[in-house]
Amino acid sequence: MTETVRVAVLGGAGFIGSAVVRELNRRGMRPLVFDLLTYAGRPENLQGTDHEFVRGDIRGPELHEALSRFRPEVIINLAAETHVDRSIYSPQDFVTTNVIGAVNVLEAARRLGVRLLHVSTDEVFGDASVYGCADESSPLRPSSPYSASKASAEHFVLAYVRTYGLEALVARPSNNYGPRQHPEKLIPKAIIRTLLGLEVPVYGSGLQRRDWMYVEDTARLLVDLALKGEAGRGYNLPGGHVATNLEILGLIGRALGREVKIKHVEDRPGHDVEYCMRPSFSYWTTPLEDGIGRTVRWYIENQEWWRPLLGNKFFVNEVPWRSVG
Ligand code: NAD
Repeated sequence: MTETVRVAVLGGAGFIGSAVVRELNRRGMRPLVFDLLTYAGRPENLQGTDHEFVRGDIRGPELHEALSRFRPEVIINLAAETHVDRSIYSPQDFVTTNVIGAVNVLEAARRLGVRLLHVSTDEVFGDASVYGCADESSPLRPSSPYSASKASAEHFVLAYVRTYGLEALVARPSNNYGPRQHPEKLIPKAIIRTLLGLEVPVYGSGLQRRDWMYVEDTARLLVDLALKGEAGRGYNLPGGHVATNLEILGLIGRALGREVKIKHVEDRPGHDVEYCMRPSFSYWTTPLEDGIGRTVRWYIENQEWWRPLLGNKFFVNEVPWRSVG
C-alpha cells in the first residue's frame, strides 16, 4: 500500500480522532471524517485541518452511504462512547454505539472490501493488579460497562477476520492525554478546575496506576498501523509512562505553578487499580512531564474551547455515576 491513501476516520471530531486527522494531513492525506457530533465530538476540534465531513451515526445506514461514496482504502474506527463514569450511570449507549455500531462498521468494511483499523483500549484486559501485565494475546477480562463494550467489539473484529477474511486489525492505546480532551476526563478536569480555583475530586485513594500516552504519539502509531499493520492482530500500544492519579495531579500542579486542591471522594464502583500492557513493537513516546506541560499550556491558551463545556454534569459533580439526574 502506498503512503498516500484514502482514509475514512470514524469519530474524527473527537479527541484522538482529530489528532489522527492532523497526522493524516501532515502525511499529505485528506480524509473523510464521519462523526455524529455527540457531546464529545466538536467541529472546533477539526479547526485548521483539511478533510471532508459527513455528520452521521455509525449505527445507521448513512455510514454505508458515506463510505460507498468516498470509497476509502482504509477505515479507522474511533467512534465510541468513551467515558467510564457515563457507562456506569447509563450503559445502553455504550452497547448500541460501541458494539452494534462497531458491527455496522464491520459490515460496511466487508461489503465494500475495505481494510479496517478498529481502535480499542488497554481497559479490555481488566485489572492488572489482579491478572498481571497483558501481552497482545492475553484474555480479555473487562471490568466496566465501557470496557465490556470495547472487548465485545474486539471479538467481533477478530470473528470477521476469521469468518469473512476481512482485512481488519485492532489497536489498543493506553490512557491518552493532550489538547482537545473533554473536560470530564481526569487530566483536563484537574487542569481546568485548578485554573478556576476549584477542588479536584479524586476517586478513593488516588493510588490507581495508569499508563499514559500523549495523543500525538497515539495518532502517529494509529496511522502507521492503519497503513501497515498485520490483519488479525490486536496491537498493544502502551505509552510507557506509568503514574498514579495522585502523581499525575502533582505533575499538573508543577506545570501550572499552582497547588492542585485534592478532594478524595467515594471510589468508582468496580474501579480497576492498574492497567498494564506489554507493547507489540518498540516506539518512542513523549516523556510524561513534557506532554503534561504542553497540555497545560494548551488549556491555558484555549479557554474559549473549554468554557462552553463547563455545565457538563460529569465535569461538575463529584460522583457523577450516582448523582446525575
Ligand atoms: P471522544 O469521546 O473524545 O470522541 C468520540 C467521538 O466519537 C466523538 O467525536 C463523537 O461525536 C463520536 N461518536 C460517538 N458516538 C458516535 C456514533 N454513534 N456515530 C458516529 N460518531 C460517534 O473519544 P476519544 O478519547 O477520542 O477516543 C477515541 C477512541 O479511542 C474510542 O474508541 C476510545 O474507546 C478509544 N480509546 C481512548 C482512550 C483515551 O484515553 N481517550 C484510550 C484508549 C482507547
